[in-house]
This record gives sequence, structure tokens and C-alpha cells, in this order.
Amino acid sequence: MSEQKHPGGPANFDTLAIRTQTERSLHREHSVPMFLTSSFAFDSADHARALFAEEEEGLVYSRYGNPNVDEFIQKLCLLEGCEDGVATASGMAAMFASMAALLSAGDHVVASRAIFGSTHAVLTKVLNRFGVEHTYVDPTDLDGWERAITPRTKMIFVETPSNPGLALVDLQWLGALAKDRGVILNVDNCFATPYLQNPARLGAELVTHSATKFIDGQGRVLGGAILGPARLISEVRSFCRATGPALSAFNAWLLSKSLETLSVRMERHCENALAVASHLQSQKKINEVRYPFLDSHPQVELARRQMRHGGGVVTFEVAGGIEGGTRFLDGLSMITRSSNLGDARSIATHPATTTHSKLTEAERQAVGITPGLVRVSIGLETVTDIIADIEQALDRVK
Ligand SMILES: *Cc1c(COP(=O)(O)O)cnc(C)c1O
Repeated sequence: MSEQKHPGGPANFDTLAIRTQTERSLHREHSVPMFLTSSFAFDSADHARALFAEEEEGLVYSRYGNPNVDEFIQKLCLLEGCEDGVATASGMAAMFASMAALLSAGDHVVASRAIFGSTHAVLTKVLNRFGVEHTYVDPTDLDGWERAITPRTKMIFVETPSNPGLALVDLQWLGALAKDRGVILNVDNCFATPYLQNPARLGAELVTHSATKFIDGQGRVLGGAILGPARLISEVRSFCRATGPALSAFNAWLLSKSLETLSVRMERHCENALAVASHLQSQKKINEVRYPFLDSHPQVELARRQMRHGGGVVTFEVAGGIEGGTRFLDGLSMITRSSNLGDARSIATHPATTTHSKLTEAERQAVGITPGLVRVSIGLETVTDIIADIEQALDRVK
């Protein structure tokens, strides 16, 4: 694919992703082993004392740190351009910890209306019970962001591109606004991954991830991360040490190895997704195709400015509303019907009857989820086979 101009990651992205690794042990192993140990031994009573007093750095207990977890987070920090980070057992543990560690009763969050369903639940069903209030804003309404910030606002939370509507937020603009108002900008960078977009290099303070998706890349394990300046991450770390959403060594080992191939996988995901989106534009049974790098996307200029490529997810509206969408899903023969995304295998989801079925029709409309909307996470299969499966499923739609 042609290289787009974007303010992106380090020039040596692949070297960092491959060569950042835990020091070799006595055995001189080439591939990093898994450190399945809950705790670490102390050389002496005084060594233990010094570690607990934080006079010395070193491993103590895997809820606090583990060689596999530390390697994974160190790599992610280098790739995102962040000073420090904490890994968590899932993306949601990361979203929750990034808020719960830094917000107190009386604080206010301004959030994009187009955020992940469970993040919406954290704001509306959990944090509200602890006195943290929130206001939702249409992500593309610039005046709306400015108006929503109050003297009590402590955090702005966004997802870009959003799931599943693929709406974008101008991170440079929002980062400058957040800085001006003394508010923390927290960006869920799950859809873009550190290879396509680096929010911290554009002005965000916190970058949160669900590593379950494209970072794992093969639909095997859950994981998450919170990255940012040491000043904020030290508070997040204390919160996580006490409350225990630690990433397991096994998952960290897999996720760290997955980062070695992130760029080549993302190149193929994006190449396939752009080909599928372009092809579907001329399909009669499809009303609208959405993909950040399609010329018809209302924010295509912004997408080209802040992302390397358009990402691995394409959404489109199948004619015939709910019935059209569900018939399409049932007609697929290769593409899996599942709610996950970011897998080597292509996956299709019908948000109105599954992931977003708990929203009202009006709430779905507000975030662009029409009844016939289908989200396809484009995998790494031969692209002509992906297109052929979509075509034959469309043939079954009336
Ligand atoms: C999946 C997802 C999450 C949650 O991640 P889990 O690993 O499933 O907990 C958060 N944000 C976005 C955008 C997601 O797609």
C-alpha cells in the first residue's frame, strides 16, 4: 500500500516491536519464555525490605509486575510514544481503571456519544453511583465539545474511529482544547492500534487499549492497557495494584509476540478492508458503505491526516432494515457470525440485534446505527474470497 502522510509512530516501529524483549535468563533462550510464577524470591530480608520501601526496583508479586507483562507494556509505550503504562486483564478493565483511578465524586467526564457499549455502562451504571457525572457529545460537533466542558470536568473520553459507526474525532484539535481547559484527554485507540494512529503524539494524555482485538489479532486472549505520562500512570498503577485487574503472564506472553507482527497484519487488514469497501460502494442492495479512507466518508481528510490507513473494519447498511441485515448475516458461508473483531478471520456483526440491542431506536440513530447496519471486521483471508462471500450473502437479501 502507498504510504500516507501522517504524524505517526516511530520510524523504527518494527524493530521496536520485535526487539524490545526481556533480558535472557541463564539458559540463553532466544524466544522469551513464559514466567508463570505468582511471586519472586528475595535475596535477603534487607532486599525484601528495600523492595517494599521502593528504594530498589525489582519484581515482588505478579499482581504488581511480571517479566512478560512488563515486556508487553514497555513495547506498547515505545510504539505509542508514551512514558509509562499498566497492562490489564481486558480492555474494559483498562477503560474502568483509567477513569476510577483518576476521578472522584463531584468530577465530570465529557464523553463521545459513540463509545463502546460497556464503556457506556461504566459511565451510566457504575461511576454515576460514586458521584462521577458525565455529558455525551456528538463526536463530530466541535462546538458541542466546548460547550460540554464545565469547571468540574476532569476528563474527556473518546474513541476514534468509533465502533461501529466509524466516526472520527480530530485528536489534535481536541488535545489542544483539553490542554487549554486543564482536562485529561483519554483516547480508546483499540480500532486504530499503535500502528495506525498514536493519540499521545497528537495531544492526548491517556491512551487506552483493548488488546483483545487487533493487537492479539487471532481471537485468542483478552487484554488491555492504559498508557500515558508517569505522573498519571503512577496513580493508575497504585489503583491497579490495590484492586487487582492484572494481565496474566500467559496472555502477556502471547500479546507481546503478537506485537511483533502487528504492522504486517494491519497492512493486510487495511488493504483488504479498503478493497472490500470500494467494491461494495457500487452494490445495489447496500445503501451506504462507511470506511475512513473512502472518499465518500465525511471525515476522509481528517482520517488521512491522523491515521496511516483506514483500519480493518468496514460497516454498511443492507437494504431492507432489520430483516435485510439479519438475512445477510444468515447468508454468509465463510465469514463468521460473532461479536468479536480484529481477528485473522473475517467476522460479521449485526449491531441492532446484538451489541447495541439494549439501546432505544433513537439512541441507535444518534450514533449512526441504522436497522440494516452490518459491521464486518475484515480478516486476512484472500480478499476475493471475502468479497465473494459478501456477494453471495447479498444475493439472499430480498
Ligand atoms: C472490545 C472493545 C473494548 C473492550 O475490550 P475487552 O478486551 O473486550 O474488554 C473497548 N473498546 C473498544 C473500542 C472495543 O472494541
